[in-house]
Amino acid sequence: MTQDYEIVIVGGGPAGLTAGIYAARARRATVLLEKHGTGGQMALTWEVENYPGVEKISGYELGQRMERQARSFGLEIRNVDVTGIATEGPIHRLSTTEGELACRALVIATGARSNRLGVPGEAELTGRGVSYCATCDGAFYQGVPVAVVGGGDTALEEALFLTRYASRVFLVHRRSEYRGTKLLQERIAAEPKIEPVLDAIVERIEGKDGVTGLSLKNAKTGAVSSIALEGAFIFVGTTPNTEFLRGFLPLDAQGFIVTTPNLETTVPGVFAAGDVRAKVLRQISTAVGEGALAATMADHYLSR
Ligand code: NAP
Repeated sequence: MTQDYEIVIVGGGPAGLTAGIYAARARRATVLLEKHGTGGQMALTWEVENYPGVEKISGYELGQRMERQARSFGLEIRNVDVTGIATEGPIHRLSTTEGELACRALVIATGARSNRLGVPGEAELTGRGVSYCATCDGAFYQGVPVAVVGGGDTALEEALFLTRYASRVFLVHRRSEYRGTKLLQERIAAEPKIEPVLDAIVERIEGKDGVTGLSLKNAKTGAVSSIALEGAFIFVGTTPNTEFLRGFLPLDAQGFIVTTPNLETTVPGVFAAGDVRAKVLRQISTAVGEGALAATMADHYLSR
């Protein structure tokens, strides 16, 4: 049996939850579909300090608050995975792990997930020293050396977080300049436990039953070296969760959804918001703004 809604929101990160708040307050029959728990990537962030009006909060707590707020307006949230979408005239049909849903307006807010480095040792040692979440696994590395690989905001923030536990944090980046914001770079420079390892390409993650080190190659000289450590935290960017949209929506070369400034896609009634969109800035603050706009555009579309 197909269940009918006016609006379906796919994804329960900050963009999806905000879309949920707006759609529920617009009194539209709405369901938010989330594969895992709500909060998305935000829930894996140990501390958020650039969300306006909230000086410091854990990403998990911020997600919990957004969910409570959305539910308080009557938003229905279901833990299902969307496996396919098709459009028939004005109706969008979603196949999920728990049956079929139909709606007239759809907000895609499925976000993105951590990239893999793709080097030998990484897959074999994932969960045994290789991690993609410092908040989840940092406490296992009390008093031992670890590496963070990457040079963006995530790598810099998580390297700072790991200084709470690790004896030393090698911050391994493939270029001579970090990509992350200057404020974070200043904090990195002032943190005695963090040792920058620049122009360094990870060739292999060493270890058998657990991580014992990284094999590195200098990007400029080609010199090969290694560092001994017990944990490797990988933060080398993200990939959008759009596989289920292939053939349904046009995606850019990296798989992000291209929209108009009003978050419309090429399919009438289908909008996209948050990290899943092709754009310059991926922040909680931009995701919530887009969630609000996407739900409002969906509401206007339904009223037409
Ligand atoms: P990102 O900004 O795309 O940075 C990815 C980093 O990984 C870059 O330094 C990149 O090196 C490196 N990298 C990529 N592929 C690699 C490979 N194969 N081997 C080695 N290094 C590789 O990703 P992110 O840090 O996850 O951030 C994602 C988005 O979220 C960004 O827009 C970021 O600003 C935002 N974010 C914001 C905050 C905040 O404001 N507090 C916190 C977290 C994330 P290159 O620099 O050489 O390309």
